[in-house]
Amino acid sequence: MNLSHELETAKTIARMAASVCQTIQTELVDPAQKGGREPVTIADYASQAVIGNALAENFPDDAVLSEERSEEFMLLLNDKQRALVQRFVTDALGGYVFEEQICAWLDFGKQKTARRTWVIDPIDGTKGFLGGRHYCVAIGLLIEGEPVAGVLASPGFYSDEEMPPDDLGVLSYASRGSGAFMEALGGSERVPIRVSATSDPARATLLTSFESGHTNLGLIDEVARLLGRGPDAPQRGLDSQDKHAMVACGMGDILLRVVPDTTYFEKMWDHAAGYAIVTEAGGRMTDIHGQPIDWTSGTRMTNNRGVLVTNGYLHDAILDAIAHAGG
Ligand code: AMP
Ligand code: MG
Repeated sequence: MNLSHELETAKTIARMAASVCQTIQTELVDPAQKGGREPVTIADYASQAVIGNALAENFPDDAVLSEERSEEFMLLLNDKQRALVQRFVTDALGGYVFEEQICAWLDFGKQKTARRTWVIDPIDGTKGFLGGRHYCVAIGLLIEGEPVAGVLASPGFYSDEEMPPDDLGVLSYASRGSGAFMEALGGSERVPIRVSATSDPARATLLTSFESGHTNLGLIDEVARLLGRGPDAPQRGLDSQDKHAMVACGMGDILLRVVPDTTYFEKMWDHAAGYAIVTEAGGRMTDIHGQPIDWTSGTRMTNNRGVLVTNGYLHDAILDAIAHAGG
């Protein structure tokens, strides 16, 4: 399967959408005004419109799974907010854009069944976007219900490092059988990435969500205890599929996402692109019971509970600990 055209196109689209998000962050996010979600709303719609436009142009027959819809865009946003979305999309595409076009791009590929489905998160990690931490634009491609390619454009990938590079952003990507890579979001030579070889769960770096509301801390603490992890065992909380990218490149070894609400099912667009990248980099991803992910269940992963991503070597030991912890 040669997916180089799909991958190259998705990389360009992800970079464009991430640049829209960065512009909106610079212009609209006021760190002093905590709690205001308006910039996320504007960026969500603008990013998804830019992505929808490009997918419609390049892959008109494909289906799309994504969160935002034109109906809500028209109903929930006021005139000023819609005008802002229109301005940012117009600036990004370099030509005047009508509201009707934005609506069509938001809905492009929805309610359609096709052999190929693009799975989109226009901003993954909205709290990170507002807080100046990790967030990403996620573009995955499913063919016949299997993630075969993924791109994550992560403007804040190094935002919480002690010695961040000048360009904080990273583009991570992979397609089935062609390897996984990272490069600077602003452009650089690509570097092949590979998961770590860590096999000691007590010393492995554990990645969890930054948001405590997205994390069953009781379960994670019990799993950590069963694995013999002391208080100094490396653990980081961060937003978005940057976690998947970190396991893919060896900056993390384990990603455990299990939401406290047992009726919560994971969303496809929070994992499809990350899955394609981390598995191509040699990693493994299942749900917390060790079941393979069912990518055919629609927008929610209703046949799975939580996710476990590891470098592969650690996987069975973590599954075992989760089972013993009553997960
Ligand atoms: P994370 O980066 O692990 O915190 O996951 C970010 C994703 O969590 C978002 O893209 C949302 O789809 C999802 N999310 C939003 N609200 C909740 C919630 N209340 N519980 C669990 N997940 C949520
Ligand atoms: Mg998301």
